[in-house]
Amino acid sequence: MTARILIVDDIPANVKLLEVRLLAEYLEVLTAVSGSEALDICENTQVDVVLLDVMMPGMDGFEVCERLKTNPRTAHIPVVMVTALDQPSDRVKGLKAGADDFLTKPVNDLQLISRVKSLVRLKTLSDELRLRAEAGQRMGIEDLFSMADGQFEEAGQVLLVDSRASSQERIIKTLKPIADVMAISDAQAALFEAAEKNFDLVIVNGALDDYDPLRLFSQLRSLERTRFIPLLLIAEQGEGSMTARALDLGVNDYIVRPVDPNELVARTLTQIRRKRYNDRLRDSVRQSMEMAVTDALTGLSNRRYLDTHLKILFERAAARKRPLSVCLVDIDRFKLVNDTYGHEAGDDVLREFSARVRAMVRGADLACRYGGEEFIVVMPNTSLDIASKVAERLREMVEKTPFQLTSGLKITVTASIGIAETSADCATPEQLLREADRALYKAKQEGRNRVVSAAA
Ligand code: GH3
Ligand code: MG
Ligand code: MG
Repeated sequence: MTARILIVDDIPANVKLLEVRLLAEYLEVLTAVSGSEALDICENTQVDVVLLDVMMPGMDGFEVCERLKTNPRTAHIPVVMVTALDQPSDRVKGLKAGADDFLTKPVNDLQLISRVKSLVRLKTLSDELRLRAEAGQRMGIEDLFSMADGQFEEAGQVLLVDSRASSQERIIKTLKPIADVMAISDAQAALFEAAEKNFDLVIVNGALDDYDPLRLFSQLRSLERTRFIPLLLIAEQGEGSMTARALDLGVNDYIVRPVDPNELVARTLTQIRRKRYNDRLRDSVRQSMEMAVTDALTGLSNRRYLDTHLKILFERAAARKRPLSVCLVDIDRFKLVNDTYGHEAGDDVLREFSARVRAMVRGADLACRYGGEEFIVVMPNTSLDIASKVAERLREMVEKTPFQLTSGLKITVTASIGIAETSADCATPEQLLREADRALYKAKQEGRNRVVSAAA
């Protein structure tokens, strides 16, 4: 794992100290000696994690952090506050400013490396999702970040694994204002619940009866259903190496006993926020992938989808020695519809036309909007004479029932259809489409509102 870490501290000796340790782990290091320099670097270069000193002259760490987190261009960069004051109030202040984590000076080596690596891992995931979402769809990204700023419409859903009733009660009470907590004493039962339900966070008390919490973490990280759930460990004081191993296993954060209620709330909020943010990204990726292959006006598949899918259907038909037919449909004199009734009316017709095409095809058929007023239906396992019957039915369905416009008007529309079937002459999908196109041209030539087969 390689990543670029920005160290921000006004004292050069402190910078050097951290730099040496990170370099030893083959991490790339950038440095800044003031808040404004740090903001500048984050805005203009790729930074994976920021290690941020709190006490600096001029702009202090809290302000730098807040500015990073409110700027959509830098909000996704994890920030670790490095503070000399081991004060819970300071930690809470940092987390409220949006910090993802903090370390106290003198910085413990193991914690430094584990935390940085754990944050880099999380960021790699977010980056990948963000890139894919951005590639497919430019819009919506700003929304994602403003959402990450932290308003919560719904309470977080938290699973607490803790074998002590008194501690369960205390945590449930502390988190009541921000989360619904389900508490379970048995680790195996908890694993089952985590896989069954959709939790935003799993909190594990490291002192479990009869169960190794590290084993629970590795199980949670390896199950498909729980792989992405944030994990928060409540650790005993002086169990640094156990904590470091937990972080290595993919635990996102930890809190040391005795638990400070403010800190628990702030850290829980940070994890829920991150979870929701990643969920949104994943949804938007799925959505943008769908949008990329769907025609916006009609909801049919678009030409891009057709190009890849026709190839697959074509090869499958050849391999199984089954017929495959395509039906190329073009609305007659559509330009006249636009010219007479307006472009909006033209769109009405296209939508209704698509609905009729969709109603006619079978589940195995593929209906696409091929271009402006041209549509294609690909029919696997279908010979030319069956295809021509289907095409004739569609032609009739279009002609017989007038199209209702939003304006209230009803107009009659007709379509011409060319069909072709795979054969020795059609060695490629392109050839098949060309045959269908030739048949369609003939249908237009012969007076429109008719079906012509390529074989004829
Ligand atoms: P033909 O019978 O020979 O097919 O005549 P036509 O008028 O249907 O064919 P032509 O290709 O000349 O015109 C197609 C028209 O479709 C031109 C274009 O403005 C219109 N068109 C293409 N896409 C859209 C769209 O999304 N909405 C609307 N309203 N019209 C569209
Ligand atoms: Mg036309
Ligand atoms: Mg046309």
